[in-house]
Amino acid sequence: MLAVQRLRVSYEGGPAVDGVDLAVGEGERLAVLGPSGSGKSTLLRAIAGLLALDEGRVLLDGRDVTRVPPHRRGIGLMLQEGALFPHRDVAENVAFGLRMAGVARPERDRRVAGLLELVGLGGLDRRPVGTLSGGERQRVALARALAPEPRVLLLDEPLGSLDRPLRERLLAELVELLERLALTVVHVTHDVGEAFAFGDAVAVMRAGRIVQTGSADELWSRPADEWTARFLGLANVVERGGRRVVVRPEAVRVRPGEGAIVLAAERRGAGVRLRLRLDDGSSLEAFTTELDHPRAGERVRVEIDPRGVVGL
Ligand code: ADP
Ligand code: MG
Repeated sequence: MLAVQRLRVSYEGGPAVDGVDLAVGEGERLAVLGPSGSGKSTLLRAIAGLLALDEGRVLLDGRDVTRVPPHRRGIGLMLQEGALFPHRDVAENVAFGLRMAGVARPERDRRVAGLLELVGLGGLDRRPVGTLSGGERQRVALARALAPEPRVLLLDEPLGSLDRPLRERLLAELVELLERLALTVVHVTHDVGEAFAFGDAVAVMRAGRIVQTGSADELWSRPADEWTARFLGLANVVERGGRRVVVRPEAVRVRPGEGAIVLAAERRGAGVRLRLRLDDGSSLEAFTTELDHPRAGERVRVEIDPRGVVGL
């Protein structure tokens, strides 16, 4: 439905997006995951038509829209940090795109009221956005992006500046809402958990290029290379029989015995992350859901389930 082909965008310093291909099916959600500076915002702005391309095409339903101006593409963009008008009220912010598109007042008011209900801000239409909480502001930005009824929605770190419990709640709500609207969505984020929770597929971006695309399970079980493994949080990249392998932390089992010492045991939600130092000096991370896990300072024997070892 949305396709991006060989997209390249440069700033003065050189290319920020360098030969990107993406395909997102109707009603699907793609998460683009990459560290800060990898070109995610540039990619979204280019898809929306806000930046000139050096090369490449953007297709919607097979139609080349590369030369169609942004407001005629049917693509909604929610910018990083929301980018709201601070001195205008909630309704005026949401109505912005509709006013630009020449939608008449009564229709505009009706749609704005519906959108505010949709994002859970019903009744707040006259509040200046400067008086809203971070979470409420993100909802206003979402309603504003949805207002022109885009077929494709681009979300640039929509939960970026919020604290963790709020992010998790808003993320769940956002996924539920987008599912209900059956929108085609590209969501960019630097947060692995957010990308895994959000996307039907996840594309990993590094230095302007897509290095791997797959479901969260596929990425976790077969990272393309060492950099991707580490970025996803797979810290155990080790040498085995002359080649580099990833040992997934859940495949590292610890028993009472000898061979390693536990440096740290940190609870992460349903499980505990153990940092181990083996007697040969190497480090290993384990993840266990046992409540009766070893504590920092204890000596242990390490067993590795071979199913959790993948070559790079
Ligand atoms: P991300 O959103 O993944 O953090 P960006 O797309 O914002 O990455 O930036 C990608 C690269 O392009 C970075 O090196 C950044 O410094 C550079 N860049 C972004 N915007 C501009 C700009 N307006 N002018 C020059 N360089 C820019
Ligand atoms: Mg960005």
